[in-house]
Order: sequence, then C-alpha cells, then structure tokens
Amino acid sequence: MDFDSLFNAQLDTLKDEGNYRIFAELERKVGAFPKAKSHDADCPDEVTVWCSNDYLGMGQHPKVVKAMQDAVAACGCGAGGTRNISGTNHQHKLLEAELADLHGKESALLFTSGYVSNWAALSTLGSRLPDAVILSDELNHASMIEGIRHARCQKMIWKHNDPEDLDRKLASLPSNATKIVAFESVYSMDGDICPMQEIVEVAEKHGAMTYLDEVHAVGMYGPRGGGLSEQLGLQDRITLIEGTLGKAFGVVGGYVTGSEALCDFIRSFASGFIFTTALPPAVASAARTSIAHLKTSDVERARQKQQVAKLRMRLDQLGIPHLDNPSHIIPVMIKDPVKCRQLADILMQDYGIYVQPINYPTVPKGTERLRFTPGPLHSDEDIEHLVMALTTLWKQCAIAHAVA
Ligand code: PMP
Repeated sequence: MDFDSLFNAQLDTLKDEGNYRIFAELERKVGAFPKAKSHDADCPDEVTVWCSNDYLGMGQHPKVVKAMQDAVAACGCGAGGTRNISGTNHQHKLLEAELADLHGKESALLFTSGYVSNWAALSTLGSRLPDAVILSDELNHASMIEGIRHARCQKMIWKHNDPEDLDRKLASLPSNATKIVAFESVYSMDGDICPMQEIVEVAEKHGAMTYLDEVHAVGMYGPRGGGLSEQLGLQDRITLIEGTLGKAFGVVGGYVTGSEALCDFIRSFASGFIFTTALPPAVASAARTSIAHLKTSDVERARQKQQVAKLRMRLDQLGIPHLDNPSHIIPVMIKDPVKCRQLADILMQDYGIYVQPINYPTVPKGTERLRFTPGPLHSDEDIEHLVMALTTLWKQCAIAHAVA
C-alpha cells in the first residue's frame, strides 16, 4: 500500500488552495529581538519579526533568561515525571501561587500549554458535571472547540461577542442544567475584545459558570498584567480564568485559575493534566520571574501601546486598510490566500520583514490577512521600513486587485 500517495493527495489540495503552511526557519538571539537570523536561502540573513506572540519581548528579558539559566543549573532539565509521579517540583508550586495571586483566585493549575489547558479543563468540566451544557462563542479558539467536542456534553454556539444571543440561549435551557459560558477576552485574529461586563451579567442572571480564555491578554492588560478581567475589575466574577505562559510572558505552558475546589477537581480528573510529563522546573522559574516582573513594571506595556498606536497611525496616513480594534493586534486584510502568501514572501525576501500569512482554516476563507503585533522592541525605524514596504507593494496592481 502506498500510504504516501494518500498523504500527498490531501497536501496537494492544500497547496492548490494556497493554504499549505510554510514555516520560516528563524534563530532568535538574546538581546536582538525583534531581529532574528533567517535560515531560508531566499531571505536576507537578518529579518525583523512582525508577527511574534512574544508580545513584550519577555522571552529575552535578562531577568527571565537568568532565572531559566539558574534553575537549569540548580535543578537540571526535565521535571522527571508527571505531576503525580515524582514530577511536582517546588518551582511548579511557586508558579501556581504566583498565578493564583495574579488573577486574585484561590488556586491555579499548570499545563504544558495553553492549548492543553483549554482542552483538558473544558473536556473535564463538560463530561463530569451533571447535565452540563457548554455555551461557546462562535469564534472561540480551536483548543476550546476540541475540549468541548471531547466533553461530549450538550453544546450551544452563541453569536460572536453577542450577550443578547447568549441570554436567549441560556434562557432556553432547563434550570437544572450546569451551564458553562466559554469565551475569550481578546480574539487573536481580529484583535477585537469581548463585552465582558455584559457577558458576566447575563451568565450571573442564569446562574451559569464563566470560563474565560485570557491567552492574548495576560501580561498585556490590567495594572499588574492580570488581563482584561483585571483591567475591568471582573476577576472575582469569572469562575475560571485560563491563560498561557507562552505569549506575553515569553516562555511556554498554560494554566487555569479559580477556586480551590475547581482546580482540585481538574487536577483530579483531567487526563491532559494527569498523564503527561510536567513542565521543566526551569520553565516554571522563568515564567514566574516574567509574571512577577510584569506585575510591577509597566514600562514594556506602555512602550508597546505607543508602538501599536504609531503603526496604526502610519497605516491610516498611507491608506493601508486594517481592522479597527482596541487591542494590540493589527490585521491587514488581503482577502485572498494566494495574494496573502505572495505578499508575505515578497516582504520577507525583498525587505527582510517577516509576517506569517494567516489563511484558512485559521481564519474563514476570504478573510486572509497579515497580522502585525508591534512590540516595545520595534524601533520607529522598523515601523517606517514596514509601512514603506507595504506602500510600495500596495501600489503594485497584483495586491491592489486582491484587496479591492
Ligand atoms: N487560546 C487562544 C485564544 C489561543 O490563541 C491559543 C494559541 N494561539 C491558545 C489558547 C493556546 O495557547 P498555547 O500557545 O499556550 O498552547
């Protein structure tokens, strides 16, 4: 049996549709971010990264780097087991305490990624709670969707960021159902923000639990980087806050926070927590250092906001269409997968500007885009170089045609 022909048939379809993913091979260098060495033959040796989720450059912050190095020197590399069987390191417990404090919750639980935390927590809640119904915002991340699928409980999809639709759907459910409202604070592809206050009020009215993904907001919003829920003073009214250590905190890992009983429940029943090797202690130490730093330092957030505003202003001045949103994410809409990839290739090869094209299935067909995430370490010159390159390419009819 020629299995490869089965694989290749589907890969060829992806390629024909312009949706085949090609990864840029980069080498990040301490102290150089957002510049990185490129290992792609067609590209300049050094490129400027414009699409990183290391939103604040914390992955290279001297304190964070040192914390990881020190912890490797002290503890070695791996955790040595699952959390249950020898893998719970003192560093994990310190980090969980730091996370609980960040979100004003009693407890926190670590996972190996944000994806796993969503999948494990939602599947456990939905499958174990009596008569559970998960009400999911229609644009929720794939990790939440997978968790809900795996829960095999009743699910309802409510219109994106629409508390009225949520209200109607909750009202249609029997009073004895355990209702779980799952949503995000900052949606990463459009960069829009949920109406959290209204959603919380609707959920409370119906006695529903709230499950909030703050992956794109932790470290970034709120006076201590506790996310949008902290900024809005709503932490106490959200049942479970989920986040990542891999974006603004610059490391890797995921977590949930909530009451002691909630975290103990997930700890005790979630297979995605129980049956997998714990995060390396050095990762936990670096993440805790990053969180602690961003709790008291606003320098990174303030400078990042400045650079986001500058890029938006220059795009507006030059007539380059981008989605208007209140977040740090700037999507420039191309609306065609092939043009989107072509534009990204030209930016990378001719200008040393790296922005990954965002195509289906990450976004719906016809909404392909370039997603820029300016950070505190992008200089004004970097911004000018980017907008000049985009302006030049915009004038070329191939791209103008795609955007029209
Ligand atoms: N939730 C959302 C909204 C995300 O965008 C992502 C990843 N892009 C995740 C969860 C998963 O987080 P992680 O990268 O830590 O697995």
